[in-house]
Amino acid sequence: MSPIANGTATPAGAPPRAAEALPASEAIAYLEQYGRGDGLSLAELMDSRKNGGLTYNDFLMLPGKIDFPASEVSLQTRVTRNILLNAPFLSSPMDTVTEDRMAIAIALHGGLGIIHHNCSPEEQAAMVRKVKKFENGFIPEPLCLGPDGVVGDVLRVKEKFGFCGVPITANGKIGGKLLGIVTGRDVQFRAESTPLTEVMTKDIVTGDAGLSLEQANTILRDSKKGKLPIIDKEGNLVSLVARSDLLKNQNYPLASKVPSSKQLYCGAAIGTRPGDRDRLKLLVEAGLDVVVLDSSQGNSIFQIEFVKWIKQTFPKLDVIGGNVVTREQAAQLIAAGVDGLRIGMGSGSICITQEVMAVGRPQGTAVNAVSEFASRFGVPTIADGGISNIGHIAKALSLGANAVMMGGMLAGTTESPGEYFYHEGKRVKLYRGMGSIEAMEHTAGGAKAGTAANNAATARYFSETDTVKVAQGVSGDVQDKGSVNKFVPYLYTGLQHSLQDSGIRSVVALQEGARDGTVRFELRTASAQIEGGVHGLNSYTKRLFA
Ligand code: NAD
Ligand code: IMP
Repeated sequence: MSPIANGTATPAGAPPRAAEALPASEAIAYLEQYGRGDGLSLAELMDSRKNGGLTYNDFLMLPGKIDFPASEVSLQTRVTRNILLNAPFLSSPMDTVTEDRMAIAIALHGGLGIIHHNCSPEEQAAMVRKVKKFENGFIPEPLCLGPDGVVGDVLRVKEKFGFCGVPITANGKIGGKLLGIVTGRDVQFRAESTPLTEVMTKDIVTGDAGLSLEQANTILRDSKKGKLPIIDKEGNLVSLVARSDLLKNQNYPLASKVPSSKQLYCGAAIGTRPGDRDRLKLLVEAGLDVVVLDSSQGNSIFQIEFVKWIKQTFPKLDVIGGNVVTREQAAQLIAAGVDGLRIGMGSGSICITQEVMAVGRPQGTAVNAVSEFASRFGVPTIADGGISNIGHIAKALSLGANAVMMGGMLAGTTESPGEYFYHEGKRVKLYRGMGSIEAMEHTAGGAKAGTAANNAATARYFSETDTVKVAQGVSGDVQDKGSVNKFVPYLYTGLQHSLQDSGIRSVVALQEGARDGTVRFELRTASAQIEGGVHGLNSYTKRLFA
């Protein structure tokens, strides 16, 4: 690369330096005429023969010109051949990151949740169903009691959950025939042993299944009731709308929805064992939109055959293959028919794959190589692992990824599975690799080690001949990050500002600019990296958003 392209020397053909300064009005024209473009093009940056394998911290994007507000930056992106998202965020299929609650929350904010498979197929399908049935403002699985319940049961619900408006159904569950509803006033001053059938309100205002949230809100307002049970034609309870939620009901303009059904998009991961075919059938019946074939090394005969089988059996289901880090791996899966590729081997925050297997690739180089190749065939890519701040997301996109997948970034949120606990004075949640011994030994349905159910749960990790469990991940904890409802909008807004600084109006424009050389990059030396972080302070507080 010439020093001119690098912006460090007088361009050839430029007039020799005059003794007198040129007129300031000629500065832009000078640059246009004699060479623009400080820094490196993407191809120059990613020349691994010169620069080695790079990852996110090894480089920066150079600033562009801002002539638009950050709020106008579009983060819309295609995550598979057929799925368009408003935000380039996926949550990782890990049992400490994505179950139905996370999948709903991230989809409401424009991303996509991939539900993990470290559970029985039935449990996983039930989670998919919950995401697909989710309607903002409707409580899909309200706590119910049966006609044999007593006032004491309602008091216990109040003590545990803080509310006492409980629908009474014939079988005590959602889906049962609605018999009545019990509210706080109904149980006031009543003996604990009083049957609920004596105190419940039977003359109930209900809504019909299928009505919109706006209609439900109008009924609640006019009826002055606290709860609106929604019933089907047979009078069975299908959901509940609560007055107390009305004020909380946000609008989610970015929500990831299937255009035809308006249901939230839902993804789930599976392995490539024969039993995963039956698992996938259940997931598809539950309404799955996209399946991720979950492997650290996707270029296997197992995955290639599996992709072909899925494409034949469920032609409408999108398939994300992976993981891959080379063009050769990607080519095999693209030829097999994948609709998207997941990139990353050894880059995860809980990962010891590179240490143990000596196989993998620095993530920046992997994302660039695979994305450049896959884009030629119209296959979107997802940069998976190693994302630990907004800058990493912007850089992954600039290297050609269409979206990022996050584990550690979303672990420790209110919506991630597991309970908070305290570790060295900090409020934390468990976060573990799916290849950690702890995750491998996790038992579906709580089955004991050595039983058939346990063997089935752990079989996904091993070749038939394995006698020793070799870990590829660790188990740890991460600090409480609060709710995804604040954290993901922080990522979204921060990313808009990042692109604005680069003078880029959209994810698509960022990728085009990187490809045609108008987006410029600079390598960071070790000392430049230190300079780019907080330094020289005695102590400081790092609050990321407010
Ligand atoms: P995997 O299911 O791809 O592989 C586990 C073992 O099963 C391998 O030996 C594989 O060859 C074998 N196998 C797969 N299908 C088979 C079949 N049909 N017949 C016979 N053998 C078969 O899973 P993995 O790569 O060990 O990953 C486990 C989990 O850990 C996943 O959740 C993965 O995402 C995660 N992980 C990710 C990375 C990464 O860098 N991205 C690294 C390690 C682990
Ligand atoms: P993180 O976002 O950096 O925390 O990385 C999450 C990613 O790490 C996941 O999406 C997986 O691709 C990968 N991963 C999950 N479990 C393991 C593991 O046990 N070992 C190595 N990588 C893992």
